Amino acid sequence: MALEVHVLGTSSARPAQGRSVSGSIVETAEGMLVVDCGEGFQNRLVTHRSQMKSHGGRRLKMSRVAAILLTHGHLDHTWGVLPWMQTMALDGRKDKLWVIGPTTSEVVEALLGSEVEPEVNPSDLVIQYDMWIDLGANSETLGYEVEWILGDGERWVNMNDGSEVSLPQPLKNIKIAAHSTQHTVPSCAWQISTKSKKGKFNRELTKDIPDEIKASLAAGNDTEYDGKLLKSKDFRADTVPGLSVIISGDTAEQAIEAQCDLLIHEATFLQTHSDIANEHLHSTAAGAARTAIECDAKHLALTHYSGRLENHVASLAEAREIHTSVVALSDGDRLVLNEDMSLTHLSKSIEGWTQQD
Ligand SMILES: [Zn+2]
Repeated sequence: MALEVHVLGTSSARPAQGRSVSGSIVETAEGMLVVDCGEGFQNRLVTHRSQMKSHGGRRLKMSRVAAILLTHGHLDHTWGVLPWMQTMALDGRKDKLWVIGPTTSEVVEALLGSEVEPEVNPSDLVIQYDMWIDLGANSETLGYEVEWILGDGERWVNMNDGSEVSLPQPLKNIKIAAHSTQHTVPSCAWQISTKSKKGKFNRELTKDIPDEIKASLAAGNDTEYDGKLLKSKDFRADTVPGLSVIISGDTAEQAIEAQCDLLIHEATFLQTHSDIANEHLHSTAAGAARTAIECDAKHLALTHYSGRLENHVASLAEAREIHTSVVALSDGDRLVLNEDMSLTHLSKSIEGWTQQD
């Protein structure tokens, strides 16, 4: 099944030009994952859900959100976490929620019991996790289980009990992976992938074959029938490959060591301001396009624009000079990565969503 991304904020650092700060929902057949959750996330979510209902008829059920994946600790990506968790408690949530994000290796060591006192950036997620837990974001107060996970990309710690864990996989049949990126605090891009699927068994071709032969072919065995060897693969359509999306947080232009079908990448600046981008460890639209080419992304979606950009016309033009399939996101847009790996861009307006070419 397709992957759908609901984009609830495309501004960098602060709300500007009608855009809000970061936060996206990735919807899969198995459930949902939220990537970043900046200030006011739940307000935008309420609006988005009611518009979905009135324009598309589909309901986004919050009980299907299995995890919040944070790309880094800057508040424009995290300040919405605590209030939203409290709303989920008011709504009677019972299912476990994972909150997963990056920190430094030194913090990981310290959480695992090292005596060495780590130097901690004030924006490190470990400080916010501690504070949120103190403010009541814990299983006892909320009434649903919360697993607080921090890691450096290699090693992960469950802060509930200080144990070392492997990166949790909150949804069945969906793989999440963290790829380190380069920002002023520990940061990562999140990759979300579906598994490949066996092609459909062709019942029409086997309608004159006895059931047991049919069953054997369907199970993948080459089977003899009527003096001939029937090849199992001749009765099944090609394997449907899995889909993969990567969502960057804030990052300087750098290679992401992975391949994906869709890259959603920050494009804070234009090439004309590449000096400021480099200084603050952000990317330009052109830089995002170069990264998309390096990770073999079939499609690139631009987001996280600086307040100095009135619209994304120039960003889109800049990236399209480098990559052939680029869209520029606005708040409320939906991106559908279809099973055939084509991309549908549903652009948001007051009247609902319209498909862009
Ligand atoms: Zn940001």
